[in-house]
Amino acid sequence: MSLTVDITIIGAGVVGLAVAAQVADGRREVYILEKNDSFGQETSSRNSQLIHSGVFYPEGSLKAKTCVEGNASLYSLCQRHGIGCQRRGKLVVAVDNSEAEQLETLLQSGRENNVEGLRLLTPKEVEEMEPNVKAVAALFVPSAGVIDVYGLMGYFLAKARENGARIGYRSKVVAIDKLGSQYQVTVEDASGYVPFSTRVIVNCAGLNCDQVAELAGIDIVRAGYKLYYCKGEYFRVMGSKNKLVKRLIYPMPRPRGAGLGIHVTLDLEGKMLLGPSSQYVDEIDYSVDSQHKQLFYDSVVKYLPCIQLDDLEPEMAGIRPTLQGPEAGLTDFVIRDESDKGLPGFVNLIGIESPGLTSAPAIGRYVASMVDEALGDARGKSQG
Ligand SMILES: Cc1cc2nc3c(=O)[nH]c(=O)nc-3n(C[C@H](O)[C@H](O)[C@H](O)COP(=O)(O)OP(=O)(O)OC[C@H]3O[C@@H](n4cnc5c(N)ncnc54)[C@H](O)[C@@H]3O)c2cc1C
Repeated sequence: MSLTVDITIIGAGVVGLAVAAQVADGRREVYILEKNDSFGQETSSRNSQLIHSGVFYPEGSLKAKTCVEGNASLYSLCQRHGIGCQRRGKLVVAVDNSEAEQLETLLQSGRENNVEGLRLLTPKEVEEMEPNVKAVAALFVPSAGVIDVYGLMGYFLAKARENGARIGYRSKVVAIDKLGSQYQVTVEDASGYVPFSTRVIVNCAGLNCDQVAELAGIDIVRAGYKLYYCKGEYFRVMGSKNKLVKRLIYPMPRPRGAGLGIHVTLDLEGKMLLGPSSQYVDEIDYSVDSQHKQLFYDSVVKYLPCIQLDDLEPEMAGIRPTLQGPEAGLTDFVIRDESDKGLPGFVNLIGIESPGLTSAPAIGRYVASMVDEALGDARGKSQG
């Protein structure tokens, strides 16, 4: 490693790689540091792989803005660069009249967020679109889809590398010290502890982002950065029933706690997966408890009556790095340069849970403008 680099990105998940693709320009020295053997081994490969639309987030929130912008960017990136994706569309289903009334609010919220093509459906229209789904009404969200996340991460990494970025695997950031106008970063790798200097740091450390912020001397409790871990398990629908629907099927969102409620997602082969559930945990443990099968069945059978308990098998789990406590309403992403904490050029990304995958290209652009400012460099760049 050279003595001083311009930009150090901590974490090679989809968000860190999207930032790298955006800030690398062939002239800046950009390092991406990843503690694992390869990119995308944590939350970015343990999710539903969905391109969200932005109906569920409050107007003006970073989640809403980056999700809607990211949705359009992802379809365009996928088309131009041959990354697998399918615009499947989604139904948010109401199973009784009180839920049907809430669909109006959801429609309104989606329109405020500029989500295009939203439409309320009658039971007959639901039946025509999805004969196996039972609902008294539904909101149709045409812009939701499924994406090949590895393909997307591979694209971001290749673009960053083409523009001179370097990636270090098995390189865990263990210390950050402010030295004058720069930062000294210490990395633990196979050779021991390696210090180097950087002008800008972007903390994209996912489940460890609060710990990385703490390394820089931030009081994470006072700043409101202490993460909760909220586990989401998935069950697969086995056998001939795994293609019962063509679209993503969501229940009405839950008012409290992280996660939208167990829904029906599809993989790129069109096979159904149920999840993710929401369970606050203290440890990172990706095992799936087979005893949770009943919970999945009970959640989905209301709107997918032909499912039976025996159709379900445990699949996988992911963990949300969330700022939202179990009883709290929705919290937003925190993305900020920490100048007001005496750390100019230290950009924190905290609580990048769903829709972080969808938002990644927009987050990349948003962070790039902060990085430009920190480096005193206002060159405009566009992702492509
Ligand atoms: C169950 C579940 C379902 C989801 N479904 C969707 C969905 O369908 N659509 C959607 O838009 N979003 C979804 N999300 C959210 C999305 O997956 C995340 O927002 C996104 O993957 C976050 O990416 P990231 O790069 O911030 O984090 P990560 O992918 O976790 O990457 C962070 C990286 O930082 C590295 N790191 C950590 N500490 C250090 C250190 N000290 N030094 C070096 N490296 C370090 C880690 O090893 C890791 O590779 C879901 C999330 C979950 C949990």
